[in-house]
Amino acid sequence: KKKQTEKEKEVELKIPDDEYIVQQTPIQPEKTRPQPLRVYINIEDMKKLKLMTGDFIFVRNPHSDSRAFGIAWPSVAIHKSKIQIGKILIENAGLEPGSTARLEQCSIDRTTDLDLVRIKLNGKLPTDKSFPLYFKEVLIELEYTVNGQLFEISYSGNVFKANLFIDDGVIGRITRNTKINFIPEKKVELGNVGYKSIGGLKESIDAIRDMVQVPLRNPENFTKYGFAPPKGLLLYGPPGTGKTLIARAVAAETGAHVIIINGPEIVSKYYGETEAKLKDIFEEAAVNAPSIIFIDEIDSICPKRDDSQSELEKRIVTCMLTLMDGADDLNLQDRPRVFIIAATNRPDSLDPALRRPGRFDREFEIGIPNADARYEILRTICSKVHHNLTDEEFHQISLVAHGYVGADLAAVVREAGLKAIQRVEKNHLEEDISGDKELIIQYPDMIDGLANVRPS
Ligand code: ADP
Repeated sequence: KKKQTEKEKEVELKIPDDEYIVQQTPIQPEKTRPQPLRVYINIEDMKKLKLMTGDFIFVRNPHSDSRAFGIAWPSVAIHKSKIQIGKILIENAGLEPGSTARLEQCSIDRTTDLDLVRIKLNGKLPTDKSFPLYFKEVLIELEYTVNGQLFEISYSGNVFKANLFIDDGVIGRITRNTKINFIPEKKVELGNVGYKSIGGLKESIDAIRDMVQVPLRNPENFTKYGFAPPKGLLLYGPPGTGKTLIARAVAAETGAHVIIINGPEIVSKYYGETEAKLKDIFEEAAVNAPSIIFIDEIDSICPKRDDSQSELEKRIVTCMLTLMDGADDLNLQDRPRVFIIAATNRPDSLDPALRRPGRFDREFEIGIPNADARYEILRTICSKVHHNLTDEEFHQISLVAHGYVGADLAAVVREAGLKAIQRVEKNHLEEDISGDKELIIQYPDMIDGLANVRPS
């Protein structure tokens, strides 16, 4: 036994004097109130650190900037040079059980009762009305908080990560009077994807806008004749041709509520989770109608149903079909105005059931651009960079860039920019006063760029 303790001591000796081994607080028996912020510290260490019970402290990760805010609590059950903290603190400080941490006096000395806590969740806010109430109870249990504190909350089987926002530089106390505001999940930035940043696709954009806008804005144009308005549009064509750009621009322009999802990102291996996410998305769209749901890379969630299709894939396709058909149960007039735009590089690998009327009843191909379109695309991309190319030079590059799609051309311009940077730096080193000081892309840079990018 003695040997063991000596071994233990040896291990402990290796730890710097001001660091403490982190242990995770065991889950508390139900009768005692959970104390998520407490940092249990050996009494001797408390004395050494001149800490009093209840002092606010920071638990700091010695190897990074992360720190967590907690409350010092003496314990006889904790060995010297060890601390016990809960999951919240471990995560906030970016630590793990067994790693070491430093303890610091908390530099914030202002404590204030909070009127308002703003909260960002990692997922969509559950529509269930009792969620905010439940959430508040959890916060009241937490009692104190600082800006940016992260914590986890499980609710009806889902785990949410919540990030708290309060005034900087205060320790906030959450009371029954504290109001909670949920910050809506950030919509993908649509701002920059105006039509101005899309080259050579004007006709496609106009056609697509009409397909989307009429059913959304004036569904009665269809319903008065007893027709169901179109529900979905499938954009297909090779990768990098601007399908995503178009969908986002159209969505932004229609002023509809937009939900953008990426096929592969929503697929979860956990049973039922993907379907639940899809249902949530369609529900959010219906509640906020008129809405557009944009599903990028839909082939990844709805591949052809055949023998090689997995159970998961079968379930997702079925769910997708049900959701798209769902609105048909209602009277035509009451149909929620939700339009779905989906993009795929491989329309043939898509489950054909999706392409039947009443589902993706419109299809639109975005093909490989011709020389004129390439010229438009290059001009659009270059309108955002410094260059001194003439119109003639743009035409020449467009002519030779056969087979290059929008994404390739964007890469060519990026490469040309790198060349220009190298030239400026070289001139700078050689102190060649005749050299350029400013970063300007020149024709030879573009030719170099072209040589460095192979069309996809
Ligand atoms: P897709 O969805 O068809 O695979 P994206 O819309 O994602 O292609 O395009 C990828 C990138 O290529 C865009 O972010 C943009 O930089 C560039 N790009 C593609 N097409 C165009 C275009 N017509 N005009 C300007 N840039 C384009």
